[in-house]
Amino acid sequence: MMSEEIVNKVKACGVVGSGGAGFPTHVKYQSKAETVIVNLAECEPLLRVDQQLAERDAEDLIKGLNCAMQAVSAKEGIVAVKEKYRKAVERLKPLLTSGMRLEYLRDIYPAGDEFLTIKLTTGKSVPPGAIPISIGVVVNNVQTLINVARAMEDQPVIHRTITVTGDVKNPVTVTVPVGISFRQLLEKTGNEIREGDAYIDGGPIMGKLLGSLENSVTKTSGGLVVLPKDHVLIRIKTQPISQIMRVAKTVCEQCQLCTDLCPRNIIGHRDLKPHMTIRAVNYGKMTESQVIKGAILCSDCGVCELYSCPVNISPRRVNQAIKQELQKQGIKYDGNLSKDDPMWEARLIPSQQMARRIGLKSYYHQEAPLQSGILDFNRVNIPLKQHVGAPCEPVVKVGDVVMPGQLIGRIREGQLGANVHASMAGTITAVTESGIILEKGGAS
Ligand code: SF4
Ligand code: SF4
Repeated sequence: MMSEEIVNKVKACGVVGSGGAGFPTHVKYQSKAETVIVNLAECEPLLRVDQQLAERDAEDLIKGLNCAMQAVSAKEGIVAVKEKYRKAVERLKPLLTSGMRLEYLRDIYPAGDEFLTIKLTTGKSVPPGAIPISIGVVVNNVQTLINVARAMEDQPVIHRTITVTGDVKNPVTVTVPVGISFRQLLEKTGNEIREGDAYIDGGPIMGKLLGSLENSVTKTSGGLVVLPKDHVLIRIKTQPISQIMRVAKTVCEQCQLCTDLCPRNIIGHRDLKPHMTIRAVNYGKMTESQVIKGAILCSDCGVCELYSCPVNISPRRVNQAIKQELQKQGIKYDGNLSKDDPMWEARLIPSQQMARRIGLKSYYHQEAPLQSGILDFNRVNIPLKQHVGAPCEPVVKVGDVVMPGQLIGRIREGQLGANVHASMAGTITAVTESGIILEKGGAS
């Protein structure tokens, strides 16, 4: 298949980065690259979905990698996989074709941060403030590439495979139509909804606290983590920024541990110095210094907040606040790549140690087995924006009867976006600016 044909099919089928970012894949594939990397690090503790899909759908994954390599004219395809995902490794090994290889990752956090994945597998460094394509690399998540393979058969992205885990009766990984609510997901998987629980959309570390169980599962939802409201991770995620700033002012002892263990700092992004950022903020120096601009380089990995800081300060949240402010002012980072810390590999955190530190030890070995088939639902609310860019333009109206895979929202003319399709058969019962509701058998 020609590169252009692959890109067109990927675009038509609404494929986006499934790892959480949601960047439209057809746009990523419009560049040329030397290397495509499959990100099979899945370094968030408790999530299982990528390793399970890589094992079950290994043929599709390799087919997707092949298509991605063709689309960007890459000569090299690397599956960056944790050595401990043995079953996936055994399935993938015999399927590799010319130019493809496996690269084994240690069980460290955050091996799945794409800058670190690239560094660990190719030795190349992405300059600070740049993106992987600037050094000729494209990184794709497992489910993204499986969706790319299916797009070649003209199958749009209408399902999501997701791990339900944490403090639940039935940890499990299931495939569901895009647009079901997290409440439906919990009920259908035999898990109770309890007053004292909080919910994280994504992995426990980098995932976002769910505002409501009525929110929809989207193309980018990889996990639903349930934890008691008084769990340390929930307390940290709900801490107001004013409190974080107050604590930073009173107790930061400038020990530098946050900087010494920062995964981006140690691979050459030396202007990201969380201890210096905290000091600058404490002295009211929120000006355009290189230290403040360095906050733009923060990947949000949470190592400083959850592992390094001995006095529970959150440089991550301070960086987030600074980033928002700089973005409003249109200020960009303009520094250069520095030398790696000579000890950088030794400074990466073993995953199990990280899980223990953040109170996930009792859930760490939970299996969350992958269930076969696709769960059935009566109603979905499909968001028109499940991707980076502008929301889609609806192409259906109330009363229309649609089939699974039918286009219901298209990319707006001249805008960045990804098409959206009906995830089951039914009748459209509402069309709003944010989403399209579809019910089996028509309006209730
Ligand atoms: S680790 Fe904590 S106490 Fe140490 S410099 Fe960083 S923010 Fe301050
Ligand atoms: S969250 Fe903390 S450790 Fe992670 S990249 Fe940002 S500053 Fe570094």
